[in-house]
Amino acid sequence: MSVQLQIEATRGAARAGKLITPHGEVETPVFMPVGTVGSVKGISQDALEELGVEILLGNTYHLYLRPGMETVRKMGGLHRFMSWDRAILTDSGGFQVFSLNELRKVSEEGAAFRSHLDGSAHFLSPEKSMEIQIGLGADIIMAFDECTEYPADGARMRSSMEMTLRWAERCKRYFEAHKQEVPWGSRQPSAISRQEERVVGGRWSVASAGGADRGPLTTDQSSTQALFGIVQGGMDRELRRESAERTVEIGFPGYAIGGLSVGEPRELTREVVLSTLEHLPAEKPRYLMGVGTPEEIAQYAQAGVDMMDCVLPTRAARHGLLFTSEGKVSIKQARYAQDEGPLDPACECRVCARYSRAYLRHLYAANELLAQVLNTVHNLHYYLATMRTVRAWIRAGS
Ligand SMILES: [Zn+2]
Repeated sequence: MSVQLQIEATRGAARAGKLITPHGEVETPVFMPVGTVGSVKGISQDALEELGVEILLGNTYHLYLRPGMETVRKMGGLHRFMSWDRAILTDSGGFQVFSLNELRKVSEEGAAFRSHLDGSAHFLSPEKSMEIQIGLGADIIMAFDECTEYPADGARMRSSMEMTLRWAERCKRYFEAHKQEVPWGSRQPSAISRQEERVVGGRWSVASAGGADRGPLTTDQSSTQALFGIVQGGMDRELRRESAERTVEIGFPGYAIGGLSVGEPRELTREVVLSTLEHLPAEKPRYLMGVGTPEEIAQYAQAGVDMMDCVLPTRAARHGLLFTSEGKVSIKQARYAQDEGPLDPACECRVCARYSRAYLRHLYAANELLAQVLNTVHNLHYYLATMRTVRAWIRAGS
């Protein structure tokens, strides 16, 4: 068993169900918070659990540079290292490397780049990305693809798409040969394993560190990671169709739509997503990468996307930009200085239940760390609540 989608209800093109992973079930459609370096910025793992987060993202590029795959692997993998026993997805590192511009050089073999931390030279290939992602041990890992820049001409979009397809085959070949090397079940010392640990019928379980309300950390050792393929093809609908069909031919347990949100107009993003979705198999999970606003994630879920991720809620929170049922709020504005009301009267998060707009505005103006924490809790809650509403809408119409 790796990862499987159980569709339980449909409404139009939309589907609601469960993604079964080696680290628990995930209600879909789902929004996945981004935990760049093994941490969702501004919020702790117990708070993420309280918010109902069932899957989060890790960035391969960042974790490879710091603390390094070998360290994470020796600590038992990313789940144990960051004390997160629910599902994790890692990206391939490709998108970050391609964002480096002057610091990278791409060839058929892979991408040579310099670290944004210290300028040191590195090389990421499809095989290397797989090796790192197997070592990190996320439940879902992504094929190493080339994110085509925007704008790009027809010849460039095609050659980039063809290379991504060749890289997808190389990824699958390496993954199939090495997937047993995932660090789950290896009983290396970690922060958690110093707590009570016992082996139960072929599974290992660990009492969590002081968390009486948390379930045990349990991993099925017979399960493996799932490698998802990524559809590219720039902004050309015909190339997207071809990329989707040929990626499906290679065969993956799930498919992502990549190469969007790279500076193109929002309308074009929408067109490309909707036309690509038609060419993805209905029974497999569909993951739209790096999108979007609360309105957009709701629309894409209604269009049949099962999984999405975006740094927007956490990044905006750190800049004092908050998503509410009454629209966007820039909490830094002087008009909130003596506003006793909650940030969002319709929100059920613990920030809106407790604090006033005036206090949140003060924390932000005073550059208090707590401002980032509270803003992040609210924004993530808003995104997760948006997806809960969409799931209820799908189930109600089924
Ligand atoms: Zn709130």
